[in-house]
Amino acid sequence: MDLYPSLITQTLSTVRYPGSGKNIVELGMVEDDIRIAGDTVSFTILFDKPTDPFKASLLKTAEAAIQLAAPGAKVTINTATRKAAPEAPAKPPVLPGVKNIVAVSSGKGGVGKSTVAANLAVALAAEGYRVGLLDADIFGPSVPKMFGLENTEIYMHEVDDRNLIIPAEAYGVKVLSIGFLIDPDSAAVWRGAMASNALRQLIEQADWGELDYFLIDMPPGTSDIHLTLVQTVLLTGTVVVTTPQQVAIADARKGVAMFRDPKINVPVLGIVDNMAWFTPEKHPDERYYLFGREGAVDEFAEKIGVPVLAHIPLVAAVGDHSDSGRPIATENTMSAQAFVHLAHEVTDAVERRNEQLPPTQKVNTH
Ligand code: ADP
Repeated sequence: MDLYPSLITQTLSTVRYPGSGKNIVELGMVEDDIRIAGDTVSFTILFDKPTDPFKASLLKTAEAAIQLAAPGAKVTINTATRKAAPEAPAKPPVLPGVKNIVAVSSGKGGVGKSTVAANLAVALAAEGYRVGLLDADIFGPSVPKMFGLENTEIYMHEVDDRNLIIPAEAYGVKVLSIGFLIDPDSAAVWRGAMASNALRQLIEQADWGELDYFLIDMPPGTSDIHLTLVQTVLLTGTVVVTTPQQVAIADARKGVAMFRDPKINVPVLGIVDNMAWFTPEKHPDERYYLFGREGAVDEFAEKIGVPVLAHIPLVAAVGDHSDSGRPIATENTMSAQAFVHLAHEVTDAVERRNEQLPPTQKVNTH
């Protein structure tokens, strides 16, 4: 009797794994440890589970096949459980070409978070930065309207074998909104997994390309969506928008606490004091403190140890411009200047943060 390894593999390749239409060699079930000594042969067959239903019958078939090919051989078949298949190839990195990711957040709705996000984006783009804006405010996606992109249809194209969403573009800013995927009026009923998946898609499966600043217009308050977002991207920091009203500041404080929670640990770059005072169009030097006290937001910011990045007056033109699909920062007016100033403060704050702190770590809640 002449035993040699290829005789064993040839023989084992006549043994089929039931139901697969393939033989056990093809399926990689025969380990590369065939040992032959005189008329004895031993080798190992790997199963995916120790409780494989075909184990016993398959071992018998294999032994019988070898006996047939090499009569009189003493056959020892060991079994082992196959190590888990190698993991799927690592997912492509998220936003690989993006330098800074800044969340524009607020403790409550209606304080002007989206207005600030949109105008900050436009002001940064006007300064020559490459800017993207993701409207993640599932409770009221207003970015499409503010950029005059309400009827935008989104298209995809292929980049490196991946089909990616092409962001819309307006005023030099690449824009995607959850409002492009769903009717803004029904956005509020989008909860949980559905909204999270849609947002992840707008981040991971979109061709954002190379950006200096990727701004995210967050939903107001604190929610599961916030968690999804901090798990999906590594936020450089957040800018918190509030009005001087006490209720707004109290809610902003909760928002700051969430970002500063050790499990989330996203730096708060500073506070934006929106609707800080009312200035009539015809009397640009006058200030009326309609909401809250003068200095209320400064005190809050000082207490939590961050700068006030800008005081933005309540000016009718700010809202009017948003409504007409042309953010006021596109103009050269006094109100626009407040947003240009904000853009400078944000770039300074981001630079300081990048010098002083290590990159934000991925949040793992599990
Ligand atoms: P949020 O995103 O916090 O819900 P929005 O940005 O949608 O708030 O603003 C709420 C409303 O207030 C909008 O009608 C907007 O045009 C208006 N608004 C925001 N900031 C100003 C401002 N500085 N001056 C005038 N109107 C403003």
